[in-house]
Amino acid sequence: MMIYLNSSTTAMTVEFAELGEGRMFSIVTSVIGCCYSNLLKNSHLCVEGAMHHDCPICCEYLFETTRGVLVMPCGHTILKSCVEEMGEHLQYACPLCSKSVCDMSKVWEKLDLEIAAIPMPQPFRNKMVLILCNDCGKFSQAQFHFVGHKCLHYKSYNTRQT
Ligand SMILES: [Zn+2]
Ligand SMILES: [Zn+2]
Ligand SMILES: [Zn+2]
Repeated sequence: MMIYLNSSTTAMTVEFAELGEGRMFSIVTSVIGCCYSNLLKNSHLCVEGAMHHDCPICCEYLFETTRGVLVMPCGHTILKSCVEEMGEHLQYACPLCSKSVCDMSKVWEKLDLEIAAIPMPQPFRNKMVLILCNDCGKFSQAQFHFVGHKCLHYKSYNTRQT
């Protein structure tokens, strides 16, 4: 089964597993243009415990839900429908730990182009900001820009100013 978070940016393949009594949970097994499927497969041990939580978006208890549950690359679990809704609002960060919910490299490439196309006006042109990357947890310096700030280590725009 395919979930299209945003047809122009990211698509992921999800496998479903039956837990009994009609309950399902799903595992992201591959993301187009991405290489963390193996990484994720090795982290499945935590899934069982992760089911005993509420969805961080709608607070539905995941262990009892009959709807699809998604395990994100960070290991947190969330209702599939809630991730899809986040994608519609262009939100791609885990609500619990702020790591990206899927491979975002295509989105980051788009932001690269946007930033290259829109130079900042003069008072800001040489302004530098210190940023903390939500994906890799490292600090870096970036040129200030309205569109976003890119981590030098992980090439992610999922960053915040410090
Ligand atoms: Zn939810
Ligand atoms: Zn998370
Ligand atoms: Zn980073």
